[in-house]
Amino acid sequence: MSAAGGSGGLIGLYGGTFDPVHLGHIRTALQLKRELPFEQIRMLPAGRPPHRPPPEANAAQRWYMLTRVTGRDSGLIADDRELRRPGPSYAIDTLTELRSELGEDRPLAWILGMDAFAGFDRWHRWREIPRLAHLVVMTRPGAEPPREGPVADLLAERRGDSPQALLERPGGRVLVWPVEPLDFSATDIRACVRRGKPPRFLVPGVIWAYIQREGLYRSEP
Ligand code: ATP
Repeated sequence: MSAAGGSGGLIGLYGGTFDPVHLGHIRTALQLKRELPFEQIRMLPAGRPPHRPPPEANAAQRWYMLTRVTGRDSGLIADDRELRRPGPSYAIDTLTELRSELGEDRPLAWILGMDAFAGFDRWHRWREIPRLAHLVVMTRPGAEPPREGPVADLLAERRGDSPQALLERPGGRVLVWPVEPLDFSATDIRACVRRGKPPRFLVPGVIWAYIQREGLYRSEP
């Protein structure tokens, strides 16, 4: 890959199940958008996440919720390519597709949590991913990067500390970036709804209204 002169701004790719999208996703994405030189961050709901049980809400419902909280002038954009693609949603396929759409020189950064990064060597064709994009690893106090093994080696080889370095090349760097900790997950929200408790302050009001309207997450999966 050549240097990224004049190829357009940095695009962040924030993958997830978004079952449902919640304030942990939105606030961290907005924080990254504010603090790193992203032109936009695309939120990519997985069609069939490869490493976990299938989502409880269907693809149309997860997509609808995501579109309620992205767009306008937020710089967060919902991207449905993984929902449209048959088979398991592998990051490598998404990146290959984006590379051919956006060109070899456009800087791309795959965003993931430190927990996901710790198991990165189990991702499909994981060694090819840093050749196609940077990695931005969201970390929080107490979340330590792996100290040994292939992921620790990847970090030692490719770690950079400057956000500006993400603009200098189309991919290849790993930036570990601290985000404000919000200690809950979509699993907690589904458990809350199942117990008949509103997930106050965990999801935006429009998402809670939709969960109720559709009767989502009421019964055991
Ligand atoms: P589940 O509980 O169903 O596993 P989740 O809330 O962890 O879901 P996902 O949609 O699978 O959400 O996660 C997508 C990405 O969002 C991951 O990279 C994860 O690290 C990040 N993420 C999830 N919850 C939070 C949170 N509270 N704060 C910051 N990042 C989060």
